[in-house]
Amino acid sequence: RAKELGRKRYMLFDDTLAKSAIDVLAMEGELRQALRRGEFQPYFQPFCRLADGEVVGYEALMRWNHPRDGVLGPATFLRVAQDGGHIEAIDWRVFEAACSAIQQLHGTRPFLTINVSALHLQHADFDRRLVRLLERTGLDPARLIIEVTEGSLLDDPERVRGTLERLRGLAVGAALDDFGTGYSSLSYLHSLPLRMLKIDRSFVHALDEGTPATTTVVAAILALARALGIQVIAEGIETPAQRNALLRMGCEFGQGFLLGRPAPIERWADAVPAAVAGAG
Ligand code: C2E
Ligand code: MG
Ligand code: MG
Ligand code: MG
Repeated sequence: RAKELGRKRYMLFDDTLAKSAIDVLAMEGELRQALRRGEFQPYFQPFCRLADGEVVGYEALMRWNHPRDGVLGPATFLRVAQDGGHIEAIDWRVFEAACSAIQQLHGTRPFLTINVSALHLQHADFDRRLVRLLERTGLDPARLIIEVTEGSLLDDPERVRGTLERLRGLAVGAALDDFGTGYSSLSYLHSLPLRMLKIDRSFVHALDEGTPATTTVVAAILALARALGIQVIAEGIETPAQRNALLRMGCEFGQGFLLGRPAPIERWADAVPAAVAGAG
């Protein structure tokens, strides 16, 4: 125990959101308990066609329904969950709930994206597990897209490519998340089977200043994606000015507080089951 505590304290020294080792141990205990009690759930944030605002899909974002502290976002616990080895168990709970919820959406057939951490992609059985989950929930694989970050390519790009290729063979798509913030070399871009690229919100927010440099970088990303046949989603759109700038530049899809905040599935109107809608 003392050894473990020492190791954790050492790790935390270079953590900007430093918590005491005691806090971390306490939270790990709470995470384990929360898993047993089913306190994790997905929130859903829509992504839309910018031209007409039509929802084309939802991203599942993990939330912890904490009995004392309320609804917590990943920033407050993801790091501890990762270091303590709980993230995969939590992720699978969230993925399963997200696939079921989207499969049951009435009337529409939106895409679902889920955020997959680097750890999953290192596991040889990730794609098989995902297939079993799709079978259990009944979600059409062609409606699922997994979001990976550039960071998860660092360790073993070939292994990640293999996993994404196998998933593509099953009709499951892949998106590169937070594009432009990581270390991806352009050579990965054309060798990975990507359906989608998500421009990080830092670029979108920089569009407000209207500097030629930012506009040029965003335009270059759009041109590159178009040439490679990859669809682009701009993340973090908060103002009409940002949306309009993106539209003018030919960006087709977007996501952000302007278009819809993350919320439980019940919040989205067409989630009402037919039987309930009919009874009203
Ligand atoms: P991400 O995948 O890049 O998700 C986008 C984050 O930006 C979300 O934060 C979302 O709530 C927030 N966001 C969306 N629109 C706007 C906007 O207009 N302005 C601003 N300022 N923020 C916006 P959230 O939900 O706190 O998630 C943070 C990160 O945690 C995610 O970044 C993702 O990397 C990770 N994450 C979320 N859910 C999961 C999950 O189920 N599993 C794993 N492994 N990671 C997850
Ligand atoms: Mg994401
Ligand atoms: Mg993102
Ligand atoms: Mg992000």
